[in-house]
Amino acid sequence: MAVEIPYRRDFAFEYGKLEPVAPGVRRIVARNPGPFTFKGTGTYVVGEGEVAVIDPGPDLPDHIAALLATLEGERVTHILVTHTHRDHSPAAKAVKEATGAPTYGFGPHAGGRRGEAGAEEGGDWDFSPDTVVRDGDVIEGGNWRFEAVHTPGHTSNHLCFALPDAGILFSGDHVMGWSTSVVAPPDGDMAAYMESLDKLLARRDAVYWPTHGPAITEPRRHVRAFIAHRREREAGILDCLKSGVGTVDAMVERLYVGLNPALRRAAGRSVLAHLIDLIGRDIVAADGPPTIAAHYRLRHSAGSGGAAAG
Ligand SMILES: [Zn+2]
Repeated sequence: MAVEIPYRRDFAFEYGKLEPVAPGVRRIVARNPGPFTFKGTGTYVVGEGEVAVIDPGPDLPDHIAALLATLEGERVTHILVTHTHRDHSPAAKAVKEATGAPTYGFGPHAGGRRGEAGAEEGGDWDFSPDTVVRDGDVIEGGNWRFEAVHTPGHTSNHLCFALPDAGILFSGDHVMGWSTSVVAPPDGDMAAYMESLDKLLARRDAVYWPTHGPAITEPRRHVRAFIAHRREREAGILDCLKSGVGTVDAMVERLYVGLNPALRRAAGRSVLAHLIDLIGRDIVAADGPPTIAAHYRLRHSAGSGGAAAG
């Protein structure tokens, strides 16, 4: 009954080595493995001679030194940032200092509004792009040409970067092969995330290279599975509400069977993201502000069962 997500977790790499993964694309993985990063952050280098770096990664001196040492003799002309989580953007500062390359991104973390801490690696509040990138913007250099795709949801400032000529989409944390994405309010937004999945379905990219883990070679199948998975989760939350289970904690208990305890908080944030979305659609109400501690109920009588349509 449950939706099958075609996870991809076979991941061959060596820490500290910039390795070719596709024509004109190299990747070096930072040694920051964890429950939200899989084996670590994959920093991509696109082009040869004059190159763009995508997601320089966490502020890990070994990672930065290995990246810069391997690129000696080449010129970094662009530093692209998919979003401002601490496992993605902090190394932009050191790479920029060493190379003089400007940074490109949607904007500061959470639009610069400091809220409660998220469940993931946390926000990089220090990053502010030299060049603000919007949906559809073209970024050109060397022998490559990127098209930016704004994909809010995981964070409000999340961008994917497409290489249309190669059929490649660097999908950041929006779509990954090894795991679902964390969608944690307040900056994470389930309605936006679902729209951003639909946005990718309307595209024709042949392969996704996420920041964590291996490539996704059947991207549309993968995206469809994630959409189905979230709808199923939403239906599960509505079932909880129908049977009087009205708190985030109790819903996580019921819906996430066999959950890694390290992911419990993230699961709670994800349920909260669904509840906020359902409130926005007038399907659910809370007894106050929609927080982790609030009590939730269905707006309409529980008998109809039609509330989850769409
Ligand atoms: Zn992230």
